[in-house]
Amino acid sequence: MDDNAHTPPRAAIDPSRECPDCHEPWLRPANLPGRYRCVYCLHRFELASVCPNCGEHSTIVRMSSTAILKCNHCGESMLQPI
Ligand SMILES: [Zn+2]
Ligand SMILES: [Zn+2]
Repeated sequence: MDDNAHTPPRAAIDPSRECPDCHEPWLRPANLPGRYRCVYCLHRFELASVCPNCGEHSTIVRMSSTAILKCNHCGESMLQPI
């Protein structure tokens, strides 16, 4: 993709949009609930229902486009590569 032209200013970056793989803020909701795709590295992720780090169950509202992508217990990302 064309890099520099559309890079948003740092202040505009939503940390919940950060890709767990390439750490670029290009994570976008996919067409399935709980699925996300990084438009930068093109990796796909699924929102886990149980935290892969601490095993805490999430309270994710899957219908929301602003779903919390991090465990509210340990702060680890709940996104699993698929
Ligand atoms: Zn990525
Ligand atoms: Zn956790």
